Amino acid sequence: LKTTIATPSVTRHIMKAFNLRASKRLGQNFLVDANIVRGIVDAAGAKPGDKILEIGPGIGTLTQGLAESGADVTAVELDKKLPAVLAETLAGYDNVRIVPGDILKVNIPEIMGEGPFKVAANLPYYITTPILMELLEKHLPISILVTMVQKEVALRMIAKPGSKAYGALSVAVQYYTKPHIAFDVPPRSFIPAPEVDSVVIVCDVREQPAVEVKDEKMFFKVVKAAFGQRRKTIANAMKGAGFTKDAIEAAFTKSGIDSGRRGETFTLKEFAALADALVVTNL
Ligand code: SAM
Repeated sequence: LKTTIATPSVTRHIMKAFNLRASKRLGQNFLVDANIVRGIVDAAGAKPGDKILEIGPGIGTLTQGLAESGADVTAVELDKKLPAVLAETLAGYDNVRIVPGDILKVNIPEIMGEGPFKVAANLPYYITTPILMELLEKHLPISILVTMVQKEVALRMIAKPGSKAYGALSVAVQYYTKPHIAFDVPPRSFIPAPEVDSVVIVCDVREQPAVEVKDEKMFFKVVKAAFGQRRKTIANAMKGAGFTKDAIEAAFTKSGIDSGRRGETFTLKEFAALADALVVTNL
């Protein structure tokens, strides 16, 4: 029988044995709650035959849970000290592969190979948004993303138009996926305890984006412009972002959207209509 890593005593023991100190800079907060590990594995529906990409395995806590499901796990870890630790803590599993490196730099299609895969992670909070954007924008064949994030970030991911939390991240996540919060995770489920509340969020990746757009780049350019200066009207925010006066005027006329509204009230459909009108204008 293999020792469960997800307990305070085993985690402390491993950290002591390898002389590890949790690195704040690398966002290291290790899970010490087996129920949370099980919750993530279940939310991902991990099973034999699945390919799972884990980001930041740490000392192998979640990795072990994923491996126990029988899935094939590829885990990318930036901390150079940890592969040697993982080689021991996960010695009993032949369905785990550790890839040393930065998730924002590794060639994901190369390490994951052909076919769909799942993503499961207790993310390092200092780069949550860049990681999510990187995974989504590349149109990788991901079927589901199950990640631990700061609660405040999760609320932004699921926010609706007109709410304070609604922003570029909400639009991007909802454009590519159907997100929902699976469960809350208290600070005491980690060593060291983070200063913020956490949740596990599940993003079911859509087969087609939520709205059809002529040019995805233009869509996100408009979204970024709108939220870059969210207190301005959409027309002024777009001017600030470098769109010409003529292009802006033509786009509002064509799309029938009121140029005096703020971008933060726009649905995905409205952003799409405006972006499509700009594509034609630019021709
Ligand atoms: N999965 C472990 C757990 O649940 O206990 C550790 C989670 S800890 C919150 C985040 C992990 O991500 C750390 O092990 C950290 O070293 C790693 N990490 C930080 N930045 C990274 C990056 N850019 N690429 C890959 N891993 C990274």
